[in-house]
Amino acid sequence: MKELRYQLDLLKAMNRKLAEKERMYRMVCDTSADAFLYCSFEQNQVEALGQWRDFFDFGIRERKEIARLYDAVDDSCLSSLQEVLFPEKTKEKVLSAECLLKNKDKWLQFRTKISYDEEGNPRDKVVCISDITKFKKQNEELTYMAYYDELTGLYNRNYFVRRLEEFVREAKETGSVVSVAIIDIDDFHKINDGLGMVMGDELLQQFGSFLKELCGKDIIICHLNSDVYCMGIYAPGGRSSVEHIHGMIQGRTARPFQLSSGQELQITVSVGVAEYPEAAVSALELMKCAEIVMFKGKSEGKNTIKYFAPSILDEFLQSVEIEGRLREAVSRKNFRMYFQPQFYTGNHKLRGVEALVRWEDSDGHMISPSVFIPIAEKNGSIVPLGNWVMEQSVKQFASWRKLYGVPFTMSINISALQCAEEKFVDHMLEVVKRYQVEPSEIEIEITESILIGDFDMMADKLTQLHQAGIKISLDDFGTGFSSLSYLKKLPIDTLKLDKSFVETVLTDSASRIIIESIIHMVKCLGFESIAEGVENERQCQYLHAIGCDVVQGFLYGKPQPPEGVEKILQGICTK
Ligand code: C2E
Ligand code: CA
Ligand code: CA
Repeated sequence: MKELRYQLDLLKAMNRKLAEKERMYRMVCDTSADAFLYCSFEQNQVEALGQWRDFFDFGIRERKEIARLYDAVDDSCLSSLQEVLFPEKTKEKVLSAECLLKNKDKWLQFRTKISYDEEGNPRDKVVCISDITKFKKQNEELTYMAYYDELTGLYNRNYFVRRLEEFVREAKETGSVVSVAIIDIDDFHKINDGLGMVMGDELLQQFGSFLKELCGKDIIICHLNSDVYCMGIYAPGGRSSVEHIHGMIQGRTARPFQLSSGQELQITVSVGVAEYPEAAVSALELMKCAEIVMFKGKSEGKNTIKYFAPSILDEFLQSVEIEGRLREAVSRKNFRMYFQPQFYTGNHKLRGVEALVRWEDSDGHMISPSVFIPIAEKNGSIVPLGNWVMEQSVKQFASWRKLYGVPFTMSINISALQCAEEKFVDHMLEVVKRYQVEPSEIEIEITESILIGDFDMMADKLTQLHQAGIKISLDDFGTGFSSLSYLKKLPIDTLKLDKSFVETVLTDSASRIIIESIIHMVKCLGFESIAEGVENERQCQYLHAIGCDVVQGFLYGKPQPPEGVEKILQGICTK
């Protein structure tokens, strides 16, 4: 009896423990966000637990009903779902599958755990079903971000480089060619500055969408940065050649882009092309070469396509080398000033001299400013260099005026960057004052390029200098955009006719017509006219005959060191 009671108590205690465990499992299942299927092989019993009702609108009670899940998922996921639901058939113990629901609004993850008895027969299994839609979406976004450019939907730079490397690798094996083209929208900054970044982005996006349509198995395009796109073509030819695609781009850019504001925008592009294996043998080098070629094309005029040539690369490398040496030269002031005289056509008297800088290389070579000034303008060293030129020229002029007492003008070339400096006007006036020279005997030569940026700011600076007495001369007239309207708005004293006109004036009647009308206009506006590049007597006589005031050129004197000018000044003194 005692034994029976003991057995009963034990049974009760075990039942309590079991009920406790059952409660615990239920609570765990109910608090989980997942749904579970428990399946016992011995009893052919299946139980749906957890958030089953949130996932499916049907229940499952027996093993054969598990297959009802097939109806819930997209056909593309069927076989993987089959494997995960019945792992006992594939001998895998744990499996997982990601399945899209039929209505495509959710991604579910199925994970199965199966247990076996000592003989290796399946005993029971649990299928856990989780909603991974959020995770999937995040993953998709991350994948998109890793490969695509958000603004245009084209490949991004990193992914493009990887794909281009694949093209190059394949071309190496097959002996094919890979074309790389950099496509740059001309004057995009004007659109961005003028219409704002939102409109600028809209244009980039629209142009990008157009380029996307050109992509294919062997044609890839990316949005490299700002207004620059890059295209890679594997084994170019026929419809997939750069020429053909460039033609299509030109066809598109011939029509304006319609912005959401209603505004219509027309663009042109400059394209630089480099090919594997001719230009370079790696993706990045090809892109760099194409970029150098594009810039070269752009410098010769926009709306162009330019193809790689070794000379372009040589020139670039040389400019990089010059740039490095130039920085050093600016810090060491390895420059000398030369001066070129200007004479009145009427009485042949000295009108003034133009200060022209020379770079004295470590080997004693004189490097022409036409080589290094553009580079100095690009890397900003024109500002310290220009300040040095200004100081040297004014100092030299002050000493000549004291020594010889001959009145004349010192003309100094000023670059746009230098003029744009905040303290430019103050600095210039300070130098003139320090050397005690008459401001009216100092002239600055500016080119039309100075007026391309902030016109009002430049005009204001020139007006300040002009009011202080300094003369303003417009250099290289006839080579720039020569819009006559700004001539009225600027305080100009002198206009210098570019030497390209003078060069052809005796042989080309069109040059004569232009030069004569410019001289006429200069007279009407009350400016002084100077013709540059006068190399022979006939040119000089012609220029005098049409009313040009002053000539400057090799005929009467090359740019020369100070001693040369001193001889001229001495000659005047002793007359
Ligand atoms: P630019 O201001 O037009 O200077 C005139 C250029 O024409 C000078 O070249 C001069 O040597 C050259 N030249 C003068 N007469 C004749 C001639 O009869 N025939 C020919 N074929 N050429 C003649 P340079 O000295 O090589 O200067 C080139 C350019 O470099 C200058 O053109 C100017 O734009 C720039 N530059 C020179 N010095 C300076 C400077 O100190 N500052 C700045 N910002 N630019 C400078
Ligand atoms: Ca000049
Ligand atoms: Ca000039």
